[in-house]
Amino acid sequence: MSGFAHALPSPVVVVGAGCIGLSTGVELLRRGYPVLLLAHQLPGDALSPDFASTAAGAHHLSFADASDWRQRYFDIKTFERLYRGDLHLRLLEELPDFRIHDATRVPEGIDHVVSFSSMTIEPARYLPHLVRTFASLGGIMQRVPRLASLADARKYAKAPLAIVNCTGLGACDLAEVQDKTVHPVRGQVLALRAPWIKTGWTRQVGSLSGGEGGERTYVIPRASGEVIIGGTREVDDWETQPRDATTQDIIRRALEICPSLARPPGSTEPVDLESLITGKVVGFRPTRDAGIRLEAEKVALDGKDEIVVHNYGHGGYGWQSMWGCAEEAARIVGEEVRKAGKGQPGVLIRAKL
Ligand SMILES: Cc1cc2nc3c(=O)[nH]c(=O)nc-3n(C[C@H](O)[C@H](O)[C@H](O)COP(=O)(O)OP(=O)(O)OC[C@H]3O[C@@H](n4cnc5c(N)ncnc54)[C@H](O)[C@@H]3O)c2cc1C
Repeated sequence: MSGFAHALPSPVVVVGAGCIGLSTGVELLRRGYPVLLLAHQLPGDALSPDFASTAAGAHHLSFADASDWRQRYFDIKTFERLYRGDLHLRLLEELPDFRIHDATRVPEGIDHVVSFSSMTIEPARYLPHLVRTFASLGGIMQRVPRLASLADARKYAKAPLAIVNCTGLGACDLAEVQDKTVHPVRGQVLALRAPWIKTGWTRQVGSLSGGEGGERTYVIPRASGEVIIGGTREVDDWETQPRDATTQDIIRRALEICPSLARPPGSTEPVDLESLITGKVVGFRPTRDAGIRLEAEKVALDGKDEIVVHNYGHGGYGWQSMWGCAEEAARIVGEEVRKAGKGQPGVLIRAKL
């Protein structure tokens, strides 16, 4: 897909091809902007901890605080766009089939049990779908060496309408950004072949609302028959390899909340979960202390002021908030382009998401 940059005279340049960059690119295209997307890692590459979108679970389980209207909005918008069905959503109480279970009948040591219907996104399928949608709307995607600065993006588009920064963890060392409040929160998960598991389970120790703290154990079944079990939250831990002790701990916790993982249909004895493992995955959640950065900034690139719109810092909730964030990023681009008198987008194109 390289070598076509000249085909777009004044594109919006999106840097980053994770779920945030791709959804933002698609949203801009739908609003009629030409888009050139640049990234040094693209969907389809081998899994890499610093390409968080490929490593995620990724289920929709919002932990936006009741008073955090901005994050709630992003999460709700994403749910409404992806969930098959007609609904008006408030989190979590208004998720489909929400039910509070009788507190007198829950297992010892558990304070509350709720159940609801939500959804799981399979990154290995949904990222290629985003790439196809992006290309079908006329977007151009180009692999580039890791950019040292946003100014480097101008090598690929001399007069960009705007630059959208969707670099995730990369925002900590891009020259004009250098956001030192961005850091990795390491997560280790295991992929199992366990198609008999059809229900997801999550155990949260500590508060769920308002953050990602506490200990969380989850079992996330996927349509493919794969089941993701996890997880861990290791702040500022850059270890790229899975740790054996962590693997054992994840297996122990997952079996506590979902014993049927070890009970394939027809088995008389529980199976060893190790024998079901198809992958051990490590990923770095691109976490920003103050939450997502979604705003415009005028940045002098090689002496010329450019419109830069930031959309990074999605921590452990990028998949579940991506469409809300993409809409907001595209709206900000439109506002800034209009203010700068840089022209109007073309026709509105609709695509199936
Ligand atoms: C183990 C784990 C479990 C998770 N579970 C969930 C979940 O259940 N639900 C949920 O919603 N979220 C979950 N997440 C979080 C989610 O995966 C992230 O929030 C999301 O993927 C962030 O996407 P992104 O596009 O911002 O970053 P990334 O996917 O990391 O993409 C960054 C892109 O920017 C490019 N890039 C960076 N720097 C540069 C540069 N200098 N030059 C050129 N290109 C650059 C990279 O090549 C890449 O294309 C999980 C994450 C992990 C690790």
